[in-house]
Amino acid sequence: MALEIDVSVARCIASKACVHAAEGVFEIVNGVARVVDPDAAPLDDILAAADECPTGAITVKEDGRQL
Ligand code: SF4
Repeated sequence: MALEIDVSVARCIASKACVHAAEGVFEIVNGVARVVDPDAAPLDDILAAADECPTGAITVKEDGRQL
């Protein structure tokens, strides 16, 4: 499976919800979240991060299909 995690720089407000929800996957760099290791947390945690993002900045796709 090919997992694709995208953070919209325009939408991210650096709340860090994703950093806490999916430990090791996201980091705040220069004031915006960035994906640093997509394999660092289970898919459920990554989906939770996307759900908990207050601005809907995170999209997660598997084999091109949005989850
Ligand atoms: S949860 Fe959303 S707004 Fe907050 S740091 Fe992550 S991507 Fe940015």
